[in-house]
Amino acid sequence: MSPTPITEIPTLVQQVRDGFTDGLLRTRERRETQLRALRRFLVDHEDELVDALRSDLGKPPIEAYTTEIGFTIGEIDHTLDHLEEWMAPQKVKVPLTLRPGSARIEPQPLGTALVIAPWNYPLQLVLAPLVAAVSAGNTVVLKPSEVAPATAALLHQRLRDFVDPRIVAVVTGGVAETTALLEERFDHVFYTGNGNVGRVVMRAAAEHLTPVTLELGGKSPAIVTAPTDVTVAARRIAWGKFVNAGQTCVAPDYVLVDRQLEDAFVAALGTAIVSSYGSDPAASPDYARIVNERHHDRLTALLDGDGYEAVAHGGQHDRSRRYIAPTVLRGVTPGATVMQEEIFGPILPVLAVDGPDAAIEFVNAREKPLALYAFTDDEGVQQRIVDRTSAGGITINHTLLHLAVNDLPFGGVGPSGMGAYHGKAGFDVFTHHKPVLTKRLKPDPALMYPPYGRWKQRVLRRAL
Ligand code: NAD
Repeated sequence: MSPTPITEIPTLVQQVRDGFTDGLLRTRERRETQLRALRRFLVDHEDELVDALRSDLGKPPIEAYTTEIGFTIGEIDHTLDHLEEWMAPQKVKVPLTLRPGSARIEPQPLGTALVIAPWNYPLQLVLAPLVAAVSAGNTVVLKPSEVAPATAALLHQRLRDFVDPRIVAVVTGGVAETTALLEERFDHVFYTGNGNVGRVVMRAAAEHLTPVTLELGGKSPAIVTAPTDVTVAARRIAWGKFVNAGQTCVAPDYVLVDRQLEDAFVAALGTAIVSSYGSDPAASPDYARIVNERHHDRLTALLDGDGYEAVAHGGQHDRSRRYIAPTVLRGVTPGATVMQEEIFGPILPVLAVDGPDAAIEFVNAREKPLALYAFTDDEGVQQRIVDRTSAGGITINHTLLHLAVNDLPFGGVGPSGMGAYHGKAGFDVFTHHKPVLTKRLKPDPALMYPPYGRWKQRVLRRAL
């Protein structure tokens, strides 16, 4: 599919900007109509979407449904259930000295938003921000990732049959097209992807003083500490790591395990991998592929790097099929090649540490991650980890699932991102909560106006 011609970009942006000015999403009913249309797009084109996701990432059909199509439908349904409540103005109390009068907060759309998405969940990460933006009454330009071309093409070709093109425009292409888009003035820019491009986006937005949401990545740790069940912990960590072949922003990047649990835990990881994907995961219908050869090469170079004792499981790869087996590395040192950057692939380093406090110290010595996972039955330790570490979000005794709770804001902190969405938090991202104070014209006491004689000064000082 050819990219959107750069000369057409200003016209497309103007078109959705006019859609906003013309009030196409002013009422709740209009927003709901577009959200229902988006839902129909997902239902009617489910098979083609599954095919596109398979072509881009070898995504297994059930993953395509649960993590992309069904996930987005869930986000739409939750929004439809709550939109009336989210849009309702909130009354607030007026201080005695300002009465008579009434005050309220009116949620108001920001205007026209730009959503820039990555390739790893190429449907969900375009459409979940879109649901949030439309629910809040914004028109939107979508920029899907060129690295997942089949999904981008489908969005470009089919979305306009469902959603009004004056409300949502899809621009396809890569760096050049995104750069051209970022030169335009938007009222919000919502970017998901790596931190280097996040900086580019934020710099470009600064030119227009446009607010940004940055959904970035990082090395998300999993801590496994006694008392725990290593079999369950291993199965849940393996699931969270190897879904989408590890190309998940909130995948557990590495594991910090109590030294005395290391052997049992590593063995349990092997068992979990075999029970999920069989002894030859290349033949499993439930295991995805690496998105392209460049990423395949980046990941195999990590395996060729140093700083680990052994490949405890997996390690096989095949560039022609963009396949890397679910892989566990043991005896990993903090200085290992694999510990320097977000892995973003099916390689799981396991590091032995001396208990939860050492794990907390390890995490705090590094950049704030997008997610953190803690496996322990000790509620005191659970709380200690929550209190003493900083991460975008935490799931205790499982992986990934905090992002599936509609009412939990999803986002990073520090280098893993700024701003959060999903559910009401998403509505809020694209909303200006406008304060409105209404006074009557009468009475109009002279007290607050100059000249301020002694008496007025005394009363005014007391009144505040
Ligand atoms: P990517 O290469 O698809 O890039 C993301 C978007 O940025 C694309 O639309 C691309 O066209 C655009 N882009 C790339 N280079 C650009 C440039 N120089 N100027 C302007 N635009 C440019 O995706 P990626 O960045 O490889 O995605 C993987 C990263 O995203 C990982 O770090 C992952 O953790 C993170 N991520 C975060 C979340 C989250 O929700 N926080 C979700 C998924 C992925």
